[in-house]
Amino acid sequence: MRFPRRPGLKFVLLIVLPFTLAALGILWTTFDMLDGISTGANTQDNKHTRQVVSSAFKSAEQRLYSILTDNAHWDDAARNSYGPIDDQWMYDTWGVGTEDVNYDAMFIVEKDGRPVTAYREGQKLDTGATDYIGAALPRVLADLPGDSTTFEVVTTLVNTPDGLAVLAAGPILPTSEDMTIPLPQPRVLMYVQVLTPEILADMGAQYIVEGLALAAVESTGVSHLVLRDRWGGAVAGVTWLDHRPGDAARRSYGTGAFVTLFALLGVMVLISVIHFRVMQQLAARERSAVFAARHDSLSGLPNRQAIAEKIADAMPPSRANPIALMYIDLDGFKNVNDTYGHETGDKLICAIAAGFLGIAGDQGILARLGGDEFAVLIAGGNSAKTAVAMAGEMLVFVNRPFNIDGRIALVGASIGIVLADGEEELEASEIMRRADVAMYNSKDQGRNRCCLFDKELDTQRINDIMIANELREHVRQGKIEVAYQPIVDSRTRTVIGVEALARWPKADSRQLPPEKFIPIAEEQGVINALGESVLAIACRDAAQWQDIRVSINVSPVQLNNPDFVRDVQRIAAQCGLPLKRLELELTESFLIHNPGRAKAVIDELRTCGISVSLDDFGTGFSSVGYLRQFAFDKVKLDRSLTNSIARDAATQRVVQGTVLIATGLSLRITAEGIESEEEAQLLRLSGCNQLQGFYFGKPQSSHRITSLLAAGGEHIKPASRRAAGRDRARRQPRPR
Ligand code: C2E
Ligand code: CA
Ligand code: CA
Repeated sequence: MRFPRRPGLKFVLLIVLPFTLAALGILWTTFDMLDGISTGANTQDNKHTRQVVSSAFKSAEQRLYSILTDNAHWDDAARNSYGPIDDQWMYDTWGVGTEDVNYDAMFIVEKDGRPVTAYREGQKLDTGATDYIGAALPRVLADLPGDSTTFEVVTTLVNTPDGLAVLAAGPILPTSEDMTIPLPQPRVLMYVQVLTPEILADMGAQYIVEGLALAAVESTGVSHLVLRDRWGGAVAGVTWLDHRPGDAARRSYGTGAFVTLFALLGVMVLISVIHFRVMQQLAARERSAVFAARHDSLSGLPNRQAIAEKIADAMPPSRANPIALMYIDLDGFKNVNDTYGHETGDKLICAIAAGFLGIAGDQGILARLGGDEFAVLIAGGNSAKTAVAMAGEMLVFVNRPFNIDGRIALVGASIGIVLADGEEELEASEIMRRADVAMYNSKDQGRNRCCLFDKELDTQRINDIMIANELREHVRQGKIEVAYQPIVDSRTRTVIGVEALARWPKADSRQLPPEKFIPIAEEQGVINALGESVLAIACRDAAQWQDIRVSINVSPVQLNNPDFVRDVQRIAAQCGLPLKRLELELTESFLIHNPGRAKAVIDELRTCGISVSLDDFGTGFSSVGYLRQFAFDKVKLDRSLTNSIARDAATQRVVQGTVLIATGLSLRITAEGIESEEEAQLLRLSGCNQLQGFYFGKPQSSHRITSLLAAGGEHIKPASRRAAGRDRARRQPRPR
């Protein structure tokens, strides 16, 4: 998964925006809902109040109806309201009532409207009811029954000079059935109660309607009701204080909702922040994981995977956009590690990585492939030139001594460069393989150098791998053969030993000489198995020969095996060969590269009775110092010295000097590659104890050695002056 380039934007798009929209949505919905609820509550409350107000006025009419019923339907009233009016009775009975709260005016009229008597606020009136209630009077009277027996009361709201009033009217009739009135139509008693502000206030208090007050009919608004008389005509308007309970609820719930929403928003913000933090941490962790997957933990440089990706990115190369890939392998790094320990080795790697990084600059991408291997990828126009120049600088850099915590580390580097300019279609993996081949070629050529990839070398390398595979198979099947070359005593010329030499199986058509397959075996990791196989065969064969010693060649690679000495002892014991009859031939290169280990191995071998000889003396450094430094039993003078001793006085001096030192150190000396009597004589005279060469016998099968030994095994080529003279005449200088 790729890390998003802008986590902030992603966070805003995926979290902040939806959250904000959701919060706004909830806010809007909540307030819309609250609005609906409050409007509903207000409407409901208004409807209810209107009913209450309407009922309050009805009940005022009802109250007056009851009072009037009590007063008009009564024997006494009937007795005193017809005939001449007794003012005192009238006042005491009804007139006094106009002074208190029950009603404000009372009228007695004939059924046709003519006034009989009237009181208002305790005073007898001269005016009739018409002046007071106007046009409503005939309509009220008309609504009353016309006969002298039916009692019925009529109530209505009516406008009076004192304001809106409740009116109740009913016929004055006796309740007793045996009593009658003297008129065909009964007189009518009317009570009028003016709806004063006080009365309205009382009504409001009783019915819990605040601010109840009269208003014009035309008034508008929700808290306004038109009051109508009994015939449906609008007589007045009434208003009250609209409570709007919904508003209050809305106010209190609104605050609650706000608080809840803000709390919710707060929680959302908190969650968002936590989420953002977690995302940031995850992203950081992902970034460091991605970094770790593509970088070497020790040097911090890109690793093998990272450089492989960079190479893939640069594919395909072209003439305009060529690439150069450089592989660098440190020489001698293992030595530093073994001698000074891993900590110093790690520091050295870091120091070299830093130096390489400085050299590569921004011209190439430096990577650590692992261990002591680095790579540089250079892309673009001048990549070939740049790579070669860079390799040169890197070689100079690694060749100087590194001071790591006071310890001096000496290393070198083998560098391989491959160029790809699109001329050949190459996969990235092939480019990397070629850089590797070029680097190994540098190693083969003697290390501490730079080689460009060469197809011929590549073919050779592939060939080497095939040979190594065949060799491995031969070893596994026990098909490796061993030839033995006699070694004679220089004075008596009797066979005192044989050198075991590995041979490619005769049955195989390839027939490679050891000089060809031994280096391949060393390079391709077959030498341990091969060495063990030769050792086992040689020990087995030698066990049947009496007295003579068998010399076996040991490669430096084998000596690095920590179990080497134990393996030799085991194999010799299995074959029944006494260790004192075994000799191992070591070469100088092992001493140079691993002096500490070499000393230990040599001492160990000698302690258990095995002889150790220094092979090929006269090639390479051939320092006599090694003879002193390491406790060898024998030194073998190389064929090159043997061959030139007859012609070259300087060689003679070298040989004599070496012999002198070797003798002083009690070492035996074998001269190798003796091809003539003359050489044999000269080397014997120079002080060599043992001689070996085609002159005395070529490498041959174990059977022939057995026969040779059975035949006496001695006096091969007995020394004779004639033979020596003939030899000298025949001899040709041999190119080396
Ligand atoms: P080396 O140890 O110096 O062995 C001597 C080589 O010189 C042998 O070659 C031998 O045949 C050759 N030789 C002996 N006398 C004469 C002579 O008078 N004239 C000439 N021209 N050559 C002579 P070979 O058998 O081809 O072995 C070559 C090298 O291969 C050996 O050199 C040794 O370094 C290596 N080698 C052979 N067998 C083994 C083995 O089993 N293990 C290891 N590690 N190396 C081996
Ligand atoms: Ca040898
Ligand atoms: Ca040799």
